[in-house]
Amino acid sequence: MLGNQILKLLKQEIPQIEYDRYIKQLRYDEEASRSDIAVFHAPNPIIAKWVGTRYAQKLSHLFELKTGVKPNVVVEVKNRKKGAAAPKAGEFTEVPAAKTSSKSTILNPSYTFESFVVGSSNQFAYTAALRVAEKPGEQYNPLFIYGGAGLGKTHLLHAIGNFNLTRGKQVIFTSLEQFMNQFTHHLRNHTMDRFRDKFRNCDILLLDDIQFLSRKEETQKELFHTFNELHGAGKQIVMTSDQHPKKIAGLEERLRSRFEWGLIVDIQPPELETKIAIIKKKCELNGIHLDNDIVNYIAANMGNNIREIEGIIIQLNAFANMMNQNITLEFAQNVVKNQLKERTENITIDDIVKVVSKELNVKPSEIKSKSRSKNIVAARRIVIYLARSLTPNSMPSLAQYFGMRDHTAVSHAMKKINETIDKDETFKAKIEELSHKITSSSAE
Ligand code: ADP
Ligand code: MG
Repeated sequence: MLGNQILKLLKQEIPQIEYDRYIKQLRYDEEASRSDIAVFHAPNPIIAKWVGTRYAQKLSHLFELKTGVKPNVVVEVKNRKKGAAAPKAGEFTEVPAAKTSSKSTILNPSYTFESFVVGSSNQFAYTAALRVAEKPGEQYNPLFIYGGAGLGKTHLLHAIGNFNLTRGKQVIFTSLEQFMNQFTHHLRNHTMDRFRDKFRNCDILLLDDIQFLSRKEETQKELFHTFNELHGAGKQIVMTSDQHPKKIAGLEERLRSRFEWGLIVDIQPPELETKIAIIKKKCELNGIHLDNDIVNYIAANMGNNIREIEGIIIQLNAFANMMNQNITLEFAQNVVKNQLKERTENITIDDIVKVVSKELNVKPSEIKSKSRSKNIVAARRIVIYLARSLTPNSMPSLAQYFGMRDHTAVSHAMKKINETIDKDETFKAKIEELSHKITSSSAE
């Protein structure tokens, strides 16, 4: 069976202990699965969430390697007989919503406006999303939400969808990647009319992670027509991206300008109080108890990616259940520290080059070249500085990476950056932001 083959492939890629504890307990649901949804059953919410956060992407990728289509991986709790009630909202499960009524709507019922914590960092985006949910197609069309990883963009998108499903609207949620895969699939099978039928006949189109449009000319063309059709008919379009449309490289001008027709809102990293409120909310929804000092410690030390913060809460709870003991502050500190360590251990110079080149608008190949042009030299210095602080590379090995004669050039670059950091607050903040981007992108 396909699902079991995929689990076997995964087994080869992960530690045995993880496999035995979590993956082995999954059952593939052949009946409920389709080419675009793979459904697995887990014996309890903890395992469901664990697999969901850590392995859904990987599983989805393995399916794609095998079948050519990248499905949404859904991990449900199987503790009920056929026909019994669906899992409660707030349980850590993802359920394909409205499997019977609408076509490819995969909404997570726990991502609602009620479960979204509002703070000044996300208030604007929240309010705009709520307006759009209440009056789709009327005011802000399209709505474009952008911001860093794990800040709640997808959550708001699902919230709009869930809100409208209950009002009988036809909602389509799709990531840009799925849109693209389905497009290629239908193109290959000469069934484009079915594709168009689906995407052009809905009340609300929710498009997640639009940044992957970058340089995909064919997909952009198709999306352009989908957009025009829906917008012309007064249907609502909501998109998310990790960047402002202006900053998405290789995006056709006509699409970019359309993305800017409606309202563009950003989500900023949460302030400490918002982070604390989010942690408390997640604990409450999942029946987990954490003392205040632990909540504060996690909020202060974990960075801004809420997905990672949730991962920590789930890990703490899972370990506490397994060991049958309470969660102490010391224990929480260890788990957090391990997570942070694991994250930096995985960073390579190439990761740094990738992020810096994207942010500073130079090519990776230019950073690695010998070019002396001013902005390239600046980008190269920043890469060197960040590589020294985020990777275990020594100065000589960095010199080798950049094809420099010896480490003196590396130490010169370090000196320059340190000097600038000392006298320029904005530059310092930029470096911190880059460093944060690198550590959070490598954690995904
Ligand atoms: P993004 O799409 O921006 O990368 P997600 O929407 O997937 O981020 O959010 C990651 C996780 O963090 C989700 O489980 C989501 O519920 C949670 N989250 C993010 N922001 C909030 C918030 N303000 N209130 C409650 N949960 C949040
Ligand atoms: Mg997202």
